[in-house]
Amino acid sequence: MKTATHSALFIPGGCLTAQAFRGYLNGSLSATEQIRVKEHLRSCRICSDALEGYKRHRNQDFLQGDLEMLSTRIRKRYAAHLNRKTTFPVMIVIVLIIFFIIILIAYYIIRFLLINPS
Ligand SMILES: [Zn+2]
Repeated sequence: MKTATHSALFIPGGCLTAQAFRGYLNGSLSATEQIRVKEHLRSCRICSDALEGYKRHRNQDFLQGDLEMLSTRIRKRYAAHLNRKTTFPVMIVIVLIIFFIIILIAYYIIRFLLINPS
């Protein structure tokens, strides 16, 4: 029984399972399990970082704050992308129209000069 719960705390590679993180954070682990998890957290950077992530996102305010920050950043990025997308073709069309008008004027000037050579 005890070995079964212990093996559920660690993945084959030796790091903590999600169950271990949850148990550690909500205090449902036995004293021995708690010690084993603590020992692993001291020696493993990945799991200690993961624990920080778990702690952070267990807190609803943090989660809400993170989500708001993310959605604000996404909206800003999307707006910037949209602005670039709309202004770029508009500029091309304006340049083309001006270019077309210049060619048209040049054409009529040349035609006028050819018809009425002085
Ligand atoms: Zn680990």
